[in-house]
Amino acid sequence: MIDFSLTDEQQMLVEMTHEFVEKEMLPHEETLERTDALPPDLATSLKKRSMELGLHACNLPEDVGGGGLDAVSVMLIEKELGRTSLALAECAHRPLNILASCEGEQVIQFLEPTVRGEKRDCIAMTEPGAGSDLRGMKCKAERVGDDWLINGEKHFISQASVSDYCVLFAATGTEVFEDQTVSVPKKRISAFLVDFSDPGVEVAPGYKNVSHRGYTNNILRFDNARIPQWRIMGPEGDGFRQVNQWLGPTRLTVAATCVARAERAFEIALNYASTREQFGQKIGKYQGISFPLADMATEIKMANLMLLETAWKIDQGNVTPEDCAMTKLFCTEMLSRIADQALQTVGGMGLMEDLPLERIWRDARVERIWDGTSEIQRHIISRGMLRPLGS
Ligand SMILES: Cc1cc2nc3c(=O)[nH]c(=O)nc-3n(C[C@H](O)[C@H](O)[C@H](O)COP(=O)(O)OP(=O)(O)OC[C@H]3O[C@@H](n4cnc5c(N)ncnc54)[C@H](O)[C@@H]3O)c2cc1C
Repeated sequence: MIDFSLTDEQQMLVEMTHEFVEKEMLPHEETLERTDALPPDLATSLKKRSMELGLHACNLPEDVGGGGLDAVSVMLIEKELGRTSLALAECAHRPLNILASCEGEQVIQFLEPTVRGEKRDCIAMTEPGAGSDLRGMKCKAERVGDDWLINGEKHFISQASVSDYCVLFAATGTEVFEDQTVSVPKKRISAFLVDFSDPGVEVAPGYKNVSHRGYTNNILRFDNARIPQWRIMGPEGDGFRQVNQWLGPTRLTVAATCVARAERAFEIALNYASTREQFGQKIGKYQGISFPLADMATEIKMANLMLLETAWKIDQGNVTPEDCAMTKLFCTEMLSRIADQALQTVGGMGLMEDLPLERIWRDARVERIWDGTSEIQRHIISRGMLRPLGS
């Protein structure tokens, strides 16, 4: 039997998060947009509230103090938080999924303090010369005695300026891979927990970004940063596999926030079409306006179904990288189409800062780039179909 209904607990989570966003986050959006900065006091109070509501670390397992929620529930929460600006939504922090694989001392020094809200994490993979091609990275970690010596640079690292540490992906050697008919030397990648107070680590300002005001990005520099052996996550050389494992659920969260913003843009457009009059009648009477509204509603319904099915498959333990890639691809591209069409429906006012539409339109642009570009999602999907056929 297929059942699309939410459980009572999921319904309660949705309503609670919706109310939190509406009453305590949305009122701060305009100031955030104008100042491009989140006041630290506001960040602290929203974080405190999110902890009271059980939203903080709701994605991590219960045995380490997290919420232990299933993937469908986490997706529903992401969708509610996704209605508002990312910098505000991130005050209800959902730490990196990969932290669930911490072991031993890593749990005590990093995972547990993160779940308690005492430390904050970010992820450092991308470099100026290595974006989509993770294995092209130059940042390296060399084994020296009982320690690792890290050298190199990362850029575009979200929220590093308000974080205490990063999960760093660095090259730990080279190995030869059999790629169909040729042998290709490729970097071995490993993941490390690097504290920003470690000597040799610098968190430098990043770039000014058109999307997501108040949500910073930074440059990280590692100059002979020496970290102990126990900070490596999993076996040496396992980083690429870990990225692929943890990026799937992360891509679902990106998709969920996109659907939330598409719904918000659509609501504004629908309301405008039903009230704005030109040539003596409501503009919604013109098919040039009403048919795109029908298309938008249809795309949003499709996106919601994809979110639900992918989250459900994660809970069943049979989600594939292609499922997550398709969901991220469709939902991020759908948001761009809907933000653009919603803006067109509203006309000139859509571009003005008086409405959140221009922001939703601007913010939408990055979603097709980070956490794997649309081209990389298409690569994952097509590879999944062609490789079994020997192509
Ligand atoms: C605001 C922002 C925040 C970010 N936050 C983080 C973060 O916290 N941590 C982190 O590690 N990274 C972060 N990133 C990096 C992000 O994940 C990368 O930007 C993304 O992976 C693409 O890399 P790139 O920008 O270097 O583009 P490139 O990889 O150089 O790609 C350029 C173009 O070539 C295309 N392309 C590349 N390879 C292929 C291929 N094989 N086939 C077809 N087309 C291809 C791409 O799709 C793209 O269109 C962030 C990026 C931004 C913009």
